[in-house]
Amino acid sequence: MKMFLAGRWQDRPRSIEVRNPFNGEVIDTVPHGTPDDVNRAVEGLVEGARLMRDMSAYDRSAILRRAAALMQACEPELGRTISQEEGKTLAEGTFEASRARETIDVSADEARRIGSEVIPLDAAPGGKGKLGFTLRVPCGIVAAITPFNFPLNLVAHKVGPALAAGNAVCIKPASDTPLSALKLVEILLEAGLPPQAIACVTGGGGELGTALCTDRRVRKISFTGSYAIGDAICRMAGVKRVTMELGSNSPVILLDDADIEQAASLVAVSGYSNAGQVCISTQRILATPQAYGAFLDALTPRVKELRTGNPLDPATRMGPMIREQDACRVESWVQEAVASGARLVTGGQREGTLFEPTLLAEVAPSLRISCEELFGPAVAVTRVDSFDEAIRLANDSPYGLSASLFTRDISRALRFAREVDSGNLHINWGTQWRADLMPYGGLKNSGLGKEGPHYAIREMTEEKMVVIHG
Ligand code: NAP
Repeated sequence: MKMFLAGRWQDRPRSIEVRNPFNGEVIDTVPHGTPDDVNRAVEGLVEGARLMRDMSAYDRSAILRRAAALMQACEPELGRTISQEEGKTLAEGTFEASRARETIDVSADEARRIGSEVIPLDAAPGGKGKLGFTLRVPCGIVAAITPFNFPLNLVAHKVGPALAAGNAVCIKPASDTPLSALKLVEILLEAGLPPQAIACVTGGGGELGTALCTDRRVRKISFTGSYAIGDAICRMAGVKRVTMELGSNSPVILLDDADIEQAASLVAVSGYSNAGQVCISTQRILATPQAYGAFLDALTPRVKELRTGNPLDPATRMGPMIREQDACRVESWVQEAVASGARLVTGGQREGTLFEPTLLAEVAPSLRISCEELFGPAVAVTRVDSFDEAIRLANDSPYGLSASLFTRDISRALRFAREVDSGNLHINWGTQWRADLMPYGGLKNSGLGKEGPHYAIREMTEEKMVVIHG
């Protein structure tokens, strides 16, 4: 595929091979863009931002609505592209395509709801007779930098709200998975988006990302990815608005009164879907004494039956990891945990990019597999003495993106909601649940700001205060 900038599809002599992570086959190539391309893209978007700012909310909404309809029409194809480039199963890829369509559709709704607020100025000394109100205006140019693991929906979560709010947007997709983002650009253009209003530049994150994030014409950076890169972007951004959607090592607390069967069947999904490469994957289980053994007994057979293999085979329940080096990292963290006293209940083996669904018990909370973000298909179970200890350990992390509690006791559920430092809290469900319209974002090193079209629009608009002096 070509990349899209300055209003047209463009190729370059150097290209990047996009490979299927399951078998290493080249699926397609994309141009290897340069910082010069970023400069040209942003130059084109200056005009695009002006066009979008002048476009009515009604028209912006209509473009997004048409794009959502087009996405629905090609959902199976989009699902297949996601599955091929990312390695998730075809079912997971198709589900992501349907969620991305929903994200664009909700963005179309939200484009029509950008309102303002009347401020009661006569309540201020000297304010009698004056009328004050706020006006929300677009930021201008939004940079959307996205990770590999949800190559369509996480692009939709930036592009949908950015356009709904009347901005122009420059996408920098992950180099491993740029195809879904480029297909979304095709769809938006077909839906009637002015070509000047969007760019998608493919190429290495270090070079292109730096050019984009330091460009003074870019007013807003919306980044989803690792903490290390997010931190680097914040340092180089200067005076810009930033939204940071970063990593996590999400905990699940299991209390003695938990429904163990329900918890086990939900963790078998939330710990292993997309081979654990989800920012809100369940990584740590903190179980009180009565729940601990029963939960391991209930979860073990469910993990053993997760069949790995070719993501395009409908019988496959878990696909490969994105790169072999990531599977090697997970393997070494599991081996390190076992060498430090954890018990390997099942899994632990690697074949190329495929890492077996893995379950570890008796995991000391100080081990790397518990403290850092694993981003792979392994769940670490730790026995805790009490709810107090579980809350302490849940919070003993630099991250705070998602956490779960299984209990039948409402007062413990409320205490969990109040005391656990996490942007998303689930009671009687796994950590990996998200409705695309809800406010979504992390605390601590998991990020800054919120996504979900309504909330992202707030972050992609500027607020002016207008006073009419009577
Ligand atoms: P990553 O390595 O941080 O890359 C994310 C994006 O940043 C890619 O497009 C990458 O481009 C680009 N990039 C690399 N260096 C850059 C730089 N110096 N300046 C600007 N951009 C740069 O993350 P990943 O491995 O793709 O994704 C996994 C991470 O994302 C995990 O930590 C996961 O938890 C997090 N994540 C968070 C959420 C959330 O909502 N909180 C959702 C999904 C994923 P290249 O691909 O070309 O290097």
